[in-house]
Amino acid sequence: MDGQKGVRMFTAFLIKYAEIGVKGKNRYIFEEALARQIKYAVKRCEGEFTVTRAQGRIYVEALSAFDYDELIGGLKTVFGISGICPVVYVEDEGFKKLGEELVRYVGTVYPETDKTFKVHARRARKNYPLTSMEINSGIGSVLLDAYPAMRVDVHKPDILLNIEIREKIYIYSETIPGPGGMPVGTGGKAMLLLSGGIDSPVAGYMIAKRGVKMDAVYFHAPPYTSERAKQKVVDLARIVSRYTGPIYLHVINFTDIQLYIYEKCPHEELTIIMRRYMMRIAERIAGQTQCLGLVTGESIGQVASQTMQSLAATNEVCTMPVYRPLIGFDKMEIVEIAEKIDTYETSIQPFEDCCTIFVAKHPVTKPNLKVIRRHEQNLQEKIEELVDTAVQTAELLIVHC
Ligand code: ATP
Ligand code: MG
Repeated sequence: MDGQKGVRMFTAFLIKYAEIGVKGKNRYIFEEALARQIKYAVKRCEGEFTVTRAQGRIYVEALSAFDYDELIGGLKTVFGISGICPVVYVEDEGFKKLGEELVRYVGTVYPETDKTFKVHARRARKNYPLTSMEINSGIGSVLLDAYPAMRVDVHKPDILLNIEIREKIYIYSETIPGPGGMPVGTGGKAMLLLSGGIDSPVAGYMIAKRGVKMDAVYFHAPPYTSERAKQKVVDLARIVSRYTGPIYLHVINFTDIQLYIYEKCPHEELTIIMRRYMMRIAERIAGQTQCLGLVTGESIGQVASQTMQSLAATNEVCTMPVYRPLIGFDKMEIVEIAEKIDTYETSIQPFEDCCTIFVAKHPVTKPNLKVIRRHEQNLQEKIEELVDTAVQTAELLIVHC
């Protein structure tokens, strides 16, 4: 759009979505999930809106005053949206009136009129007295008369003026890019291991973008980790929930397990053994909550516990698939996404993490699985009971924005 001047005339938005793979029954599921996520997004915007599905399209309509930029920002958090088209409605009061409305539309939205354009009319209501072709050429001439600097270009126009004839007539020409992806809820549910770091919120965002609903689990170790560290994770979950919808966050008290491992196992293996217990517990909770996989923020080689050997060791204890969307990303690339999705500033707040408190000076970087398994035998006496207690005493927080 050329200027902000035009935005005030828009009170409705046509939501475009990529239709690949959404035929038949899938289409219904896709649209229903998309409409639900749109409702969730507009609820936190100033103003009142309706979200309607009509003839294979979704419209968002404002019923009261609203903040245009805030609404667009909200819609940009909804996966599945490929484009957002601001729409002007006009009443059907004859062709002459329609011409006048288009002259007004073009004058307002495109103050600089030395542009090429094409009119693209579509009749969803077939009893309209003119054919689409007649509308195209008729409106084209009216615009050429009103704006002599404009020219028609049917192949690559600067402005594609869409006119849809329904009960009312819809005019739109702009498409604001949406985030793409699939609507959350169309792809099952996964359990995100959410720490207070930079990586895991990004990992959750990326898997949710493929339509997967997110639950989360956070391991904390009071009093070694503070309430403030936990609050930071809740804050991160809240930011991620802009994209995912409400997140069921399971907070696990990990202190006794960590202390027990610390007491019984070689210190250079603490991190790996601890991570294996995190995965086991996360998988247990995932199984109880209909999750189909685990999600972590791991990336090869980032730290000692993320070498290929370490990843193999943590992976070994899970039977569920573990999704690691950042596996081949550099830190810089992850930070870029964290900034884009607004988690970065929260992630870098300096609060202690339960992993960092018990880490050894020289953790193993190439753990030997047989050795790790053997050392875990040292935990035999109490570990099952400790894990049971940790699962049973988990605190459930429902986080949304
Ligand atoms: P992040 O930035 O996500 O914290 P990291 O680079 O600090 O990652 P690690 O601490 O090795 O890496 O953790 C690897 C992954 O394990 C994290 O991305 C996260 O998915 C999970 N994880 C680590 N600590 C916790 C925790 N306290 N609670 C829940 N999950 C955790
Ligand atoms: Mg971390």
